[in-house]
Amino acid sequence: MEQDFSPPPLSVYVHIPFCLSKCGYCSFFSVPYSKSAVVNYVHHLVSEKNLYRTYLKQALGTLYFGGGTPSLLSPQQINSICEGLLFAKNAEITLEINPLQISESYLEGLKTTKVNRLSLGLQSMDDTELKWLERRHQAREIKSKIKLLQEFGYSNFSLDLMYGLPGSTIASVKANLLAYLELAPSHVSSYLLTLEEDCSYRAKLPTLPDDDHAADQYEMIVNTLCSNGYHHYEISNFALPGYEAAHNLAYWQSHDYLALGASASGFLDKIRYTNPPNLTEYYDYVTSGKCFPNGMDCDAKRLREDYLMMGLRLTEGIDEEDFYNRFGLRIESLYADKLERLLKQGLLKRSRGKLAISETALFISSGVIGELIL
Ligand code: SF4
Repeated sequence: MEQDFSPPPLSVYVHIPFCLSKCGYCSFFSVPYSKSAVVNYVHHLVSEKNLYRTYLKQALGTLYFGGGTPSLLSPQQINSICEGLLFAKNAEITLEINPLQISESYLEGLKTTKVNRLSLGLQSMDDTELKWLERRHQAREIKSKIKLLQEFGYSNFSLDLMYGLPGSTIASVKANLLAYLELAPSHVSSYLLTLEEDCSYRAKLPTLPDDDHAADQYEMIVNTLCSNGYHHYEISNFALPGYEAAHNLAYWQSHDYLALGASASGFLDKIRYTNPPNLTEYYDYVTSGKCFPNGMDCDAKRLREDYLMMGLRLTEGIDEEDFYNRFGLRIESLYADKLERLLKQGLLKRSRGKLAISETALFISSGVIGELIL
């Protein structure tokens, strides 16, 4: 039988940087929301999309609106960004939505768009934690908002869960998780709170659970979600069977993805590029008509390392034959000693042609991947 070597459909990420206010723990690029600023931004996004029209002649496998707060876009603005794009059959089109924007009228509008999956920045079902995170929604509103989503046919939704918050315990994270399970999400993304240099909470130096305690919280999350039928398919991500995030899989499987919008990073035709994380510079670059700002041609070594770095995040690991087919080299010919040592230490495992990080080492996966490739 002939093998199909046709490339998977292209993915597109669109960054919407506007937020109603800045949360103290957040270090994503975001700017204050105003209606007129969004109108101007969408105008530039559409121009940027046209710069890449050669690539956009093909049908897209996934489109992801991330932020910031993409649900500050009106349905008409979402439609104008999607205009002219072609989509593959069963394409996944995700919108990150702030629980505050879930309303009958917004969902009615959303039904006129191609969005078929929602990702809710819920973070917690505990009001004290939500307050600390400076999120504006409250836990008690969530049940009825989810019911509304389902009534509008959005049963494919993902919930973000933050753990490792100040004062959190295994019991408090478990209580949170059980409240999540009552909402029946098709997907859960867990995030360990980390305070980057540029977030305002960094200066407050809150006491966070130590690494061992955070690892115990993570283990409890994995066990609870897996025992409730969720597939733990990536270090931090869990899905009901068949609801794995196709867009993120494109990143983890090193497929091409185009990125539009300020601060967005893309990978296309072996070029990695990042748009300026600044509106004025972003507008200047779009107006100049150039593609791939700050683009870097990746050499074979960089491509191999990126492939391993991303692919080893998947619990099933990487397919060693696929690695060979892409790069013409065997993993052991590149990393013989390190590979043997990590396998012996039980940090990596190998079975049926796949190389993966052991379950017990998933929490320290970055260290394990670093040991292998650096
Ligand atoms: S956490 Fe989300 S809503 Fe809060 S500032 Fe960051 S991007 Fe905006």
